[in-house]
Amino acid sequence: MSDSTSRFRTFIAAYEADMAPLHREYNEASWRFNLTGEPDDERASAELDTRIRTLLARPESYRELSAIDAAGGIDDPLLARQLKLLLNEHRAHQTAPERIERMVRLEKALESRFNNFRAELDGARVSDNRIKDILRDSTDLPLRRRAWEASKQVGAGVAPDLLALVRLRNEAAHELGFANYYSMMLTLDELDEAELFALLDTLDQATQPLWREYKGALDARLSERFGIALAELRPWHYADPFFQEAPPAGVSLDRWFADIPLEDLARRYFEAVGFDIRDLLARADLYEKPGKCQHAFCMCVDRGQDIRVLCNLRPDERWMSTLLHELGHAIYDAAIDPALPYVLRSHAHILTTEASAMLFGRVSRNAEWLATWAGMPAAEARATTDALARATRAQLLVQTRWELVMCHMERALYREPAQDLDTLWWDLVERFQWVPRPDGRSAPDWASKIHFSIAPVYYHNYLLGEMMASQLEEHLLGPVLGGGAGAAAGYVSSPKIGAFLREKLYRGGRTQDWRATLVRATGRPLDAGAFVAGLAAGLPGA
Ligand SMILES: [Zn+2]
Repeated sequence: MSDSTSRFRTFIAAYEADMAPLHREYNEASWRFNLTGEPDDERASAELDTRIRTLLARPESYRELSAIDAAGGIDDPLLARQLKLLLNEHRAHQTAPERIERMVRLEKALESRFNNFRAELDGARVSDNRIKDILRDSTDLPLRRRAWEASKQVGAGVAPDLLALVRLRNEAAHELGFANYYSMMLTLDELDEAELFALLDTLDQATQPLWREYKGALDARLSERFGIALAELRPWHYADPFFQEAPPAGVSLDRWFADIPLEDLARRYFEAVGFDIRDLLARADLYEKPGKCQHAFCMCVDRGQDIRVLCNLRPDERWMSTLLHELGHAIYDAAIDPALPYVLRSHAHILTTEASAMLFGRVSRNAEWLATWAGMPAAEARATTDALARATRAQLLVQTRWELVMCHMERALYREPAQDLDTLWWDLVERFQWVPRPDGRSAPDWASKIHFSIAPVYYHNYLLGEMMASQLEEHLLGPVLGGGAGAAAGYVSSPKIGAFLREKLYRGGRTQDWRATLVRATGRPLDAGAFVAGLAAGLPGA
């Protein structure tokens, strides 16, 4: 064993001894906080977060890792991989302890504000689900507008803290020699900013003709439904506060989810494709409660089998899809080789676990899946295949145009936090989503999107994840299942799905970076091909 190797092994052992218990306690506290919104849980989670970041900020640790790296001689590929990941992780945290404390305080305050926020509509506090119901179903135009405006109230409350946090994050990045925090986090997360934005430009160009066609048809429908001119359409006429979700297009699937508990359906389906999720469901918290986080997520508490899913299920297709999505994260974590070293015992990258989640989140609109699992009669499923495929493509298209707004906004936020962000936001909405800004409105509407506050430099992973999900889907239907009608059926019921994903994608954890992991699974690097081809196939009329 080389001198570097033994030094590095010593380092790793100390790292795991320090970090594994802290990670677990931190995850436990965050889980409790997300369930209750209780200030005690929030405090505990903030303290643990600070302790973790303070350990990672120790200059002597970073110096030691850099010295081991400079000395060379780490030949074992698993050790070399751990060295790279630990160097990136420590580098991102090389900042003064006082600054870390201020950042954690601001982050937790923002998280708590979002968790406890209930919009005020006509004098009453209402949930996110209630706002979405109005925007989906109501034809009362003044009510739609008030509901949409109510959904933005949180923005003005969080904007000052969020901007303070952006400035702190940028100060830390400048000290480490990066242009800003956004660029730093991409680099240390093994992404390339130029490559990412070139890919976004490709998607923008490739989806423009589809968007013209889809949005033209949608706007014509909305103008007819609401009895107003096309030129009068504004953000509150769309079915979602950010127009990030497509309206139910022609076919509503909700009735197929009205009578069966969604978790039972998920359990039977996952079992068929090769995953036993009973333990995951037993640990999950699936229904609405006061004070509980209104979103959905999956958290691996211990880099082992303590994996927890949070949802706020309602008996409809949207929540079915969300549950499948979160379980798509959970089965990934559950399948990671438990014999791997601690540092590598996690998904290859956020975008790979998002890809897995998205692959499963899509099946609730798959006709084969509905017929096999949700009780839709086969003849009806056949008859609705095209409409469902259009609905899926519509959703992906709406999402893609929205994600372009988010990615460009977040980069601009860190590049120049002092600029007129309120105006820039609506410039981007008009440029990518083609939704006109509300007349005379001046408010930090961008800040009402939770991700800028609690999941910084993350949103691009959704877009990259969708692209990777399409690439995986194409590979599963083709080489893995052999193509044709048999493949379509196998896609929703064959254990080959689980066997492939487990072996080729999940099991290796972080032993390879996301690029190599994807090549290993599908034989080629990430590209927009499968995703754009899927969008382009038969969208008109959606
Ligand atoms: Zn996800």
